[in-house]
Amino acid sequence: MHPRDSNADNLTAVVPDSLVRLFLQLINPLTFSKENLRLFQAILLGETLKRANACSDYWRERIGTASAIADPWEMLNRIRPSSRAELVDNHLESLTVQTQPAIVYHSGGTTGRPPLVIHCSQQELSFLDSFFDKAGEALAANGLPKRRIVISTTNRASHGNIIVLEKGFHRKKYVFGMDSMSDAIMASEILTLLKHRHDMTGADEKVSSVGTTTPFAIYLTAKMLLEGFDFGELAVETVQHGTTYMAQRWRQIIRESWQAETVSIYSMAEIIGKATECSMCGLLHFQPFIIAELLDPWSCQQIEEGVGILVLSSLFPFVQMQPRIRYLTEDLFERRRSDCPFSAGYRFLGRKENAGAITAGSRFVPMVLPVLLYEELDKWPDVNRFPYPGSEDLPPAFTHATGHPIFAVQTIGDEGSVQESKLTIQVKVEFRYDPRLFPERVAALSQKLYRVLHEQCASLARQLPHTIDYSILPLSPGGLERSYEKI
Ligand SMILES: [Zn+2]
Repeated sequence: MHPRDSNADNLTAVVPDSLVRLFLQLINPLTFSKENLRLFQAILLGETLKRANACSDYWRERIGTASAIADPWEMLNRIRPSSRAELVDNHLESLTVQTQPAIVYHSGGTTGRPPLVIHCSQQELSFLDSFFDKAGEALAANGLPKRRIVISTTNRASHGNIIVLEKGFHRKKYVFGMDSMSDAIMASEILTLLKHRHDMTGADEKVSSVGTTTPFAIYLTAKMLLEGFDFGELAVETVQHGTTYMAQRWRQIIRESWQAETVSIYSMAEIIGKATECSMCGLLHFQPFIIAELLDPWSCQQIEEGVGILVLSSLFPFVQMQPRIRYLTEDLFERRRSDCPFSAGYRFLGRKENAGAITAGSRFVPMVLPVLLYEELDKWPDVNRFPYPGSEDLPPAFTHATGHPIFAVQTIGDEGSVQESKLTIQVKVEFRYDPRLFPERVAALSQKLYRVLHEQCASLARQLPHTIDYSILPLSPGGLERSYEKI
């Protein structure tokens, strides 16, 4: 048996008002302060570490044997970041002793490597419900805007947990939850709901917000354009999309056809919570109950500004059954200071593995920001695409406009060693056709890519003791070993 604090479950049994008050201050741009965020997170982090230490052999080993946690931030910094692969072997490391599983969710994630099993406990879910109910009641006491109707296609156990959190933030919203991959049946159901005049007391007549995965937002829009859907019938103000990156081209198509704002969400199956694109600064801000850190890929030290690897920690009691403490996301992010009331924010730059990195052990220098190449490639219909689920039933004219461009980035040297004096950054691009058939098109796209690479790498190249060459390798359809679903 693990030692157990007699008050161990107080935080979950009764949601403290002070925690709810702090939380509400932190999600409101008028009352947000960095000091309060630090305070809120310190309370939860201290509790998370204390419980991890008390309830789990795995975490006790990782955190150390300190019985009292004097400074939770200092202790957090001492924990070595852990990868997805480590998580697979240590997937049931509860923060409470009597934990009843409620949801078991098997996820390949968007990378599929390696697949994970995600567990949520009944205690955790009931805490989330009562926390957000309480937060909603506090918001309602100050007078709520008219009830909104939201369609969300993601469930609480999958990416973003959007139903739980949105329901909590606004409390008096109606939610149609649909658990499915994108398909034609779900799309037509949503179109019916979008057009329908709902008769719900005190609520808007029509759906005012849609939250879904990026592929489904694109698929649905393509279908609406194809079928001549009358967008004038819509009352949707925001289209939230997440799970994978959406190119600017599609964001613009959605904004213009729906006449709605697009809001991108960054989330992952492993972490409860999300970061949301801010309408004021355009950057992503994480929810207060997630600690986001950016580590310099070379020194592995935390950085305040610049490009690094995102590390996330989820906090008790928002997570109870599978804590993630310093979880290495393998995603490159930029952290920027901004004048936004919510302070600094983040920008997603792509997967580490697509950054053509120069590596030495686990340290590396990302040479290319995948998102910039992605944006360039997405503009060219010549590039072959990874089809989104559900898009097979669209006609060819649309099928080929809805998926991810297929490309890979590699730095070639002597095994990418830092000692090597000459490096070649190679971008392999899969075309829709045999590149020998349209040489002028291939040359035009290659020129564009050279320019993107030069612009990106120029300042970095000056700092490195290497000669850097660039190479574009055009390939026929099927030329790349695998399709990168996440960039
Ligand atoms: Zn902002």
